[in-house]
Formats: sequence, structure tokens, C-alpha cells
Amino acid sequence: MVCFSLAIKSFSQTNRQTVYLEQDKCGFDEILARSLLKMFGDHWGYDYDSLLVDLQRWGESPYVSVDSLGASVQNRALWELTITDTNEVKPKRAIYIHARTHPGEVQGFWVTDEIINLLTSESDFAKFMRRKCVFYIIPMYNPDGVELEYPRENAHHVDIESNWYAATVEPEVATLRNRFIELMNSGSPIEVALNMHSAYACKRYFVYHDPVGTSPAYSVYEKLFIGDVRFYYLFGIEPWNYFVSWKTGTPLKYPESWFWLNYSENVMALTYEDINCENAGNYGKTAAAIIHGISNYLALENRTVVVDQIEPPVNFLLEQNYPNPFNLSTTISYYLPGRSEIVFRILDTRGREIKTIETGWQETGYHEFNWQATGLPSAIYFYQLTVAVQKNGAIRRISMVKKCTLLK
Ligand SMILES: [Zn+2]
Repeated sequence: MVCFSLAIKSFSQTNRQTVYLEQDKCGFDEILARSLLKMFGDHWGYDYDSLLVDLQRWGESPYVSVDSLGASVQNRALWELTITDTNEVKPKRAIYIHARTHPGEVQGFWVTDEIINLLTSESDFAKFMRRKCVFYIIPMYNPDGVELEYPRENAHHVDIESNWYAATVEPEVATLRNRFIELMNSGSPIEVALNMHSAYACKRYFVYHDPVGTSPAYSVYEKLFIGDVRFYYLFGIEPWNYFVSWKTGTPLKYPESWFWLNYSENVMALTYEDINCENAGNYGKTAAAIIHGISNYLALENRTVVVDQIEPPVNFLLEQNYPNPFNLSTTISYYLPGRSEIVFRILDTRGREIKTIETGWQETGYHEFNWQATGLPSAIYFYQLTVAVQKNGAIRRISMVKKCTLLK
């Protein structure tokens, strides 16, 4: 299994221009999956009975209602929580979250569990989100797989993550698809749909869809969404270009494919991958980043009002350009923790300036631009961000440099 996936990786790297094989976004590793099952205990430490106990507890909250949407192959209920403040104005902004499609990826559930804790709490932020939004959450989308201890599949041995365009879809897929259609036709259609997994690659990331499989406009929204979440957990969640999928078109497989093909730019539908290895943890921080990110993305309110118990990034950050190597055009992004005066330059390998791209004052937050290397020969270049910082009355300049390769 491991050797096979390595072979695919090196093959796709050497033939990037002509052949692209869609990588498994969860980075499934059978040997690791078995050892994690041993480590976490039966059913990866959280089974269908654990869910029934929690449903009882969650259902006691005045902001939660619990319903069964349908049944799995082995007739277990697919439970959905609705979390909102029912006294408040409508229409509400709707967010859909479903977790544990792949039963072995229990960390995606633990993040979801912390999302439920956050949204049912009495914090000002939770009250605000309940007033403005309605959250629909399925904590365990594949209960049969959890009970049977199949890391990836349902009781029919089908991966219901990629069954959305099969000739005959599984009952779990049919149930969720019908629910999505019902909500999309309601007065509060879904605007954000998150599909909670966790990755054997031991990183936290969103699965970004290339504009080839979506649209240029949608890819900008994706970057905005991922940037909004990362703002609250900068060094915990990878940048948007960590995992790029759909480079050759829309694969007829996933819930995100279904959303894209039916509702295009109207729904921000993304897979989130939490960490599935010994380094797992920080579920509360991750959950808070996701919900604060959603609040910013939907422009629910001024960012400064809703920030609580969250540390925004304090450091400057210059990210690796994407794509790299590149042919004429590449995207460079960086983060400024405060309003700063910057200079952005391109240098050659001997440190000589080739071009100044940008100078002047810029606001706090993420900045991104597209560099067109028109007229330059194929070579290695450096890009340099210099920021002027005031410290103890004196101006200090901080420089960050990264290498990129132009290949024509
Ligand atoms: Zn998965």
C-alpha cells in the first residue's frame, strides 16, 4: 500500500505537465490505520453508543434539536443536530458540517465535537453565531463503518466519500444528498459545507480545488475562506496551496463535486483534514479557528468584536510561491501582523535586484499577488519581503527571503 502510493507520487511529479493522478486527499495508509486503531482502542475510542450518550446530552441544550435523517445499510440512524437561536430573526446563514465519513479519521470528529461545544456555550461569540446562523451537524455519517471498524468504508465495503456519482449510490449518500437538496431549496440555503476528515500525512489542511475543476472566481473564494480560518491558527493549519486537487477537471466523486456541479459559486464546500497521527490534538483551538473563520468569511460582523480566546498570529510570514517551479506566472502570499511599510523585490542568485514589485504601507492581514516573470530567462530567483518595524523609537528592517524557480 505504502509502496504503491509512493510510486504514484513520483510518477505524477515527473510527468506533471501531461499526467495528473488525483491523490487520495486523506493520504490513507492501511498500516498506520491499524496501529492507530490499536492506540485509540475499540472503534478508535468513540463508537455509536458514545454518540447516543452525547446526543442525549446535546439535546438538553435549548439551542439544539436532534433528528434522524435516515438510516445506514445496517439500519443505524444518521443523526443530525440543528444548532441555532430559534427566537431570532430569519433568514439565517446556513452552515453544514458532516464528520466521520471515514471512521478511522476520528480526529475530524473531535474537532466537530469542539465545534458543538463552542456553539452551545454561553460565550458572546456563541450567542452571536446562534443569532446570525443555523448550523446543521452530522457527527457520525458512517456509523456502520465505525461499528465494523472499517477505516474507510460502509457496511457494503463502499467508500461513501467517493460514491456520490455512482450508478447506484449508497443509502448514506442518498440520505445526505436529499437533505442538501431540501436545504438548498429552503429560505436559508447552505453557504458553507465542511466535510470533516483527518490526514495520515500528519498535517492540518483544507483540500483546495484548482480553478481547472471549479472556476477562477471560486478559487479566489476558496483562498479567502482558508485564509480566514488560518488567520486564527496560522502555524497549525497549512496554507491553501498545501494540497491542490482537481487539476484536470471536476472528479465525479465527492460531496464537493456534487455541490460544485449543482450550485457552483453559491456554496463554499470543502474537505477539512485534521491530523491523524500521534501529534493529534488542539481540537478546541482548531474548532474555534474554523467557526471564527466562517464568521469572517460570511462577513457577519467586524472581526474585532467577535475575537475571544483566540490568538491571532504575531509574526510576519512569507509563504512559498505557488506553483513552483512556475512558467511565467506564480502567486506569492505573506502575512503582516500590523500595518507596515514594505518593500517587495525579486533578486537573482547573486543577490542583485531584478525588479521591485511593491512598496508602501499595507494593512494588517494576508496579502497575495500574482507575479508575471515576463522577459526573464529560466533560472532560480529569490523573492524578498522587507518590512520596516518601529522598536524603542528606532526603525528596524526585517527581511524574509524565499527561493523560486522559473522554468519556461
Ligand atoms: Zn477521509
